Amino acid sequence: MENSVVEHGLGNREVVTTCAYCGVGCAFKAELQGNGVVRMVPYKDGKANHGHSCVKGRFAWGYATHKDRITTPMIRGSIHEPWRPVSWEEAIGHAASELKRIQAVHGRGAVGGITSSRCTNEETFLVQKLVRAAFGNNNVDTCARVCHSPTGYGLKTTFGTSAGTQDFDSVDEADVIMVIGANPTDAHPVFGSRMKRRLRQGARLIVVDPRRIDLVRTPHVEAEHHLQLRPGTNVALVNALAHVIVTEGLVNEAFVAERCDPVAFGIWKAFIAEPRNAPEAAEEATGVPAAEVRAAARLYATGGNAAIYYGLGVTEHSQGSTMVMGMANLAMATGNIGRPGVGVNPLRGQNNVQGSCDMGSFPHELSGYRHVSDAAVRSMFDAAWGVTLDDEPGLRIPNMLDAAIDGSFRGIYIQGEDIAQSDPDIQHVTAALAAMECVIVQDLFLNETASYAHVFLPGSSFLEKDGTFTNAERRISRVRKAMPPVCGKADWEVTCDLAAALGYPMTYAHPSEIMDEIARLTPSFAGVSFARLDELGSIQWPCNDKAPEGTPTMHVGGFVRGKGQFVVTEYVPTDERTGPRFPLLLTTGRILSQYNVGAQTRRTANTAWHGEDVLDIHAHDAEQRGIRDGDWVALASRSGETTLRARISDRVQPGVVYTTFHHPETGANVVTTDYSDWATNCPEYKVTAVQVRLTNRRSSWQEEAEALRRDTRLVAEIAAE
Ligand code: SF4
Repeated sequence: MENSVVEHGLGNREVVTTCAYCGVGCAFKAELQGNGVVRMVPYKDGKANHGHSCVKGRFAWGYATHKDRITTPMIRGSIHEPWRPVSWEEAIGHAASELKRIQAVHGRGAVGGITSSRCTNEETFLVQKLVRAAFGNNNVDTCARVCHSPTGYGLKTTFGTSAGTQDFDSVDEADVIMVIGANPTDAHPVFGSRMKRRLRQGARLIVVDPRRIDLVRTPHVEAEHHLQLRPGTNVALVNALAHVIVTEGLVNEAFVAERCDPVAFGIWKAFIAEPRNAPEAAEEATGVPAAEVRAAARLYATGGNAAIYYGLGVTEHSQGSTMVMGMANLAMATGNIGRPGVGVNPLRGQNNVQGSCDMGSFPHELSGYRHVSDAAVRSMFDAAWGVTLDDEPGLRIPNMLDAAIDGSFRGIYIQGEDIAQSDPDIQHVTAALAAMECVIVQDLFLNETASYAHVFLPGSSFLEKDGTFTNAERRISRVRKAMPPVCGKADWEVTCDLAAALGYPMTYAHPSEIMDEIARLTPSFAGVSFARLDELGSIQWPCNDKAPEGTPTMHVGGFVRGKGQFVVTEYVPTDERTGPRFPLLLTTGRILSQYNVGAQTRRTANTAWHGEDVLDIHAHDAEQRGIRDGDWVALASRSGETTLRARISDRVQPGVVYTTFHHPETGANVVTTDYSDWATNCPEYKVTAVQVRLTNRRSSWQEEAEALRRDTRLVAEIAAE
């Protein structure tokens, strides 16, 4: 029984809504007394979770009413001045006049925006509309840039759709499950449990991961193969798996002949059969014994329905997009696509990262993944929005940051994202923010990015607004308002106000009208409306005349792009190399009780389980450095240095260290580099050459960041009083 119920008693009304943490998208009944949540009860009819939940969705909702919430708009002339609480009108007016001033002086392209994967589809759609129609450029991007942008690129190139192929229920029909670069029991716990149930029923498991994640061995579940590769060698490994399939006659020739492009297949087959792609040749790079790779490949190809589930351990590499296409090649070659129990499935990180991509948050794509250079698509938007859209792709987040340092990019509107903690090479990010003339942050809290902001617009939590989220299985679910917005406005209303102040009114009476506009302009959402969602519970896109109730499984009978496209996936080692100065490889991730930058979970009792980020290091590497369990260590790369506590762990192999990035005081991303995926600029979070040494003090970056944090927040508190 929840303590809140013991304290307050049961709720007297309930609202069915969707969890705002991870991409599983669990449905909950929020039980309330008046406007106060008493408890969150996992909803039995939720099609993503079937009544299950995890420790975040069920218990970590108290941040919505935490005392740190900023509920009044604030402005300041420079980041060294105190924040000044002002009315909504003044804050919006100031933000608009600054954006207009910057554009008048530095050109239309000198400003841009970042949409939030924490916000609803409707809010995200409006932010990209604001940028394209009111700012008059395509400088809009989203945090998917730094997580799953290679998924969009890779799956669209090979299959024709930038999304996973299955629903979660599909795992119940899988005979072989291959988990690559994902840690479902921590990061997607409800789906992780579902997967474990299937494994207990007898499905066989292959884990491809540099770390010994829980799934490798837990009670009643044991991976048949753990391919514990070196960070950065995914492509070499997937090519080796494919080599076995091709050279041992395990290709599903009938499937390939019927469903895939024959020319592309022929080219790929010849490439992959080359001896340099054999497991024996790859062993030196990957560190995985060739016999293990051969056995795993045979199991994947011949074990029945084989499903791939993958995470950021695939995408956040300099060859992230190549690896996504490598997995798609594997699925096509073995015919494991287009029916329940198989497929290639990204486990999406944030609650609405799929949705933010679907809604046209990338600088080169309008909603539904249509390129801005497509004149027919643009003319439809031009007519609906009464503008002439730019036909050139705009700046990606890294381009915006580089341009800020160069001086050509001067203003940004950031809704619900903390790039000064979440993005790689923090010192580069903060230098770029500091170089801008107007940084507008819309958020629940004064986060790390807000330290560099000139306008702060209070945001609202998922409990305070109506809209939809789209989860990792393309499932669109309703988010329903359980309490009024603490700051008086929902996020979508604030975006509309800003657009109006810029001279481009966007008028909606309710978020359902925004979804109606999305449906009119986006073929894969044509049949989606709030009324239809209320009727069906949730809908997996595409939803249109051909699939009026949505599409649980993609590519049934044929690929969305026509013929499946095999792509040659040449392994190119990352430029980030270990050497005498930085001999270890750092890889990062998250844990069950905390969520990403921790803005929400750190303001709940979940901190009891994870009060600080620690560095996992193998006993061999620790001993060489005289490090004992619990010692303070300096973690340094060519980008930066931070101090945190060490934990001796056999989950990492010698030569590899691991940490989480939930706490700004540690700032793990001060260490990560600006190397990125060749196709999408997704940062290479998962491979950083580092050194670890004993220390007894915090790094100079930590001292400076703490001083900045203290100054900007202390001033804000005084001003707010
Ligand atoms: S699994 Fe994800 S969506 Fe479900 S309750 Fe946990 S955090 Fe929320």
